[in-house]
Amino acid sequence: MAKRDYYEVLGVNRDASDDEIKKAYRRLAMKYHPDRNPDNPKAEELFKEAKEAYEVLSDAKKRQAYDQFGHAGVDPAAGAGFGGAGMGGFADAFADIFGDIFGGGRGRANVYRGADLRYNLEITLEEAARGTETRIRIPTMAECESCGGTGARKGTQPKTCPTCGGHGQVRMQQGFFSIQQTCPKCHGTGRYIPDPCPICHGGGRIKQHKTLSVKIPAGIDEGDRIRLSGEGEPGVNGGPPGDLYVQIHLKPHPVFQRDHDDLHCEMPISFATAALGGEIEIPTLDGVARLKIPPETQTGRVFRLRGKGIKGVRSISQGDLLCHVVVETPVNLTERQKELLREFEAISQGNAARHHPKAQGWLDKVREFFGG
Ligand SMILES: [Zn+2]
Ligand SMILES: [Zn+2]
Repeated sequence: MAKRDYYEVLGVNRDASDDEIKKAYRRLAMKYHPDRNPDNPKAEELFKEAKEAYEVLSDAKKRQAYDQFGHAGVDPAAGAGFGGAGMGGFADAFADIFGDIFGGGRGRANVYRGADLRYNLEITLEEAARGTETRIRIPTMAECESCGGTGARKGTQPKTCPTCGGHGQVRMQQGFFSIQQTCPKCHGTGRYIPDPCPICHGGGRIKQHKTLSVKIPAGIDEGDRIRLSGEGEPGVNGGPPGDLYVQIHLKPHPVFQRDHDDLHCEMPISFATAALGGEIEIPTLDGVARLKIPPETQTGRVFRLRGKGIKGVRSISQGDLLCHVVVETPVNLTERQKELLREFEAISQGNAARHHPKAQGWLDKVREFFGG
């Protein structure tokens, strides 16, 4: 897999903006345009490499696929094994493989580390709190077993390119000058395959999946990344492989919202309980807890249950559970209930300031505002 990381090709960060990517590409395209580099046989290759990188990274969908699956996610040759590739993909894969195997053809001895990959993993809050182990399946490019990666049909061999005699370069006469160019027949590999392998269509690799086991430590949070060393893309020309980053996403929880090590929940209580006080059951990540509601509890009051939150990966102690009280207005009242409430209202009215100080205070302010 002789492909450099696209971000490295363009010399930009992985979080580069579209604009930065465009600028980087424009700079490289100017620098390496073949017309400006008649004496530099590597320029065309670098130009094409930059163009390919730009085509992927400038397309939001392709860029996402690349970030997640690397070249296997966007490489047109990657689908070759399944009959999806056009000739361009074939030619690229062809060049890549032989760039690796026969090395010297184009003088491509540069060794690069493989690209890092990202895998988005969604887990539940409970799994995040307690830790878990899971298996993920990721696409990968593997050497075609039928041809052993040569791309030639079983029992046949790639041949030396007759156009360039295996040098990968041809001399072209242009006006007074004789310039060296990448061989158009073999794309600089110095070899060609008369009888391509029917399994990989000459690409030498096929798309496969590998299953990896991922240990998720207790306390992991949204956006945390787990690095699986060496599970990224293979290196180029014998370089070390990249890493695979498993990025954690938490599924929304029906009861709890997480804020670092703390958990928050909304706790609806009846207005009778709010007024008279009582004891209610609170769900926590490790079972039910009981909470005493003092009399005259108002909406918005927060009760903190110490140590009922989450212990973060790097935390020394457990977070808390914060219960936010919401006093619920009763609905679907029967005639009898309404009657009791009207009666309650009637006997409360005489002393509004005592029983509903907030409402009374607010009314006073309103009167003041209108100069009453
Ligand atoms: Zn094959
Ligand atoms: Zn050739």
